[in-house]
Order: sequence, then structure tokens, then C-alpha cells
Amino acid sequence: MTMAEESNCIFCKIIKGEIPSAKVYEDEDVFAFLDLSQVTMGHTLIIPKVHQKDIFHLEPEIAAKLFKHVPVIARAIQEAFHPVGMNILNNNSELAGQSVFHYHIHLIPRYGNTDTFSFSFQPHTDDYSNEQRSKIAAAIAEKIR
Ligand code: AMP
Ligand code: ZN
Repeated sequence: MTMAEESNCIFCKIIKGEIPSAKVYEDEDVFAFLDLSQVTMGHTLIIPKVHQKDIFHLEPEIAAKLFKHVPVIARAIQEAFHPVGMNILNNNSELAGQSVFHYHIHLIPRYGNTDTFSFSFQPHTDDYSNEQRSKIAAAIAEKIR
């Protein structure tokens, strides 16, 4: 990360109060605020205060401090607005839909037929044998450190 990346970062500016936001929660490590786009009502972003651009750069210790707030804030949204469910997601890289390059988790409450958020997995279950799945798992497992 360069200083330029951090000083041009819209979310770093939100943390510093240089850009206004609708704050939901703040402590020394994390900041949570409403996503301007309100994909559904209560759509909230949770971010670390340190500028780390995506999951590939997010330090596990920072992630631990960040993720522990996810269920707490999810339940707060649930109590406030009684959604039927919630999608929690995080985009990494432009290809994957990331537009702000400061790591963030989206909490998107779901209200059923009245909301316009859509999300779908397209399964390829039959395209892989169990042996192929085992090889893929082993390739990942050997890189874990
Ligand atoms: P992503 O596309 O996953 O990187 O998500 C970035 C999100 O940041 C989008 O959903 C935007 O609506 C949201 N966003 C961008 N600027 C602001 C802002 N100033 N305040 C709140 N949310 C913002
Ligand atoms: Zn930043």
C-alpha cells in the first residue's frame, strides 16, 4: 500500500470524518456505517480502521477484530428492521465487483419479495469427480500457512 492509496481512499476519509457518513458503530479498530446505495434498507458496511485493500491483504489479526462485530451488527439490524434474512458479502478485485479498495463487508438485510437484491450460485456439481475435488482441496491445503 502506498501513502497515495490511503490518502485518496474514500473510506479512510469517512473514518477520519472528512466525508460525512451515517455511522452505526465505531471503536478503536472498526467503523460501521450505512452504504450510501442502500441496496436494501439498513444495508451496512463494516470496515477496519487500517487501510488494507482486500481479503488478500487483510491481516488475520485485523480480520479477527473486524469479523467479531459482524454477528453483533447483523442482530442489531435484525432487531431494528425485522428483515426475513441477510446476505453478507465482500467483493475482492474489480472483476469480482469491488469498487472501493479499502476492505469492507456488506450486510444486506433481506425483506422477501419486496427487495430487489438478487444473488445466485450456479452449481457445477456434476462437472467434477470426487477425485478432482480432492485434488483441488489438496492444492489449497498445501498453501495454508
Ligand atoms: P464494493 O462495490 O463492494 O467495493 O462496495 C463499495 C460500496 O461503497 C458501494 O456499495 C457504494 O455504494 C459504497 N459507497 C461508496 N461511497 C460511499 C460513501 N461515501 N458512503 C457510503 N457508502 C459509500
Ligand atoms: Zn482506506
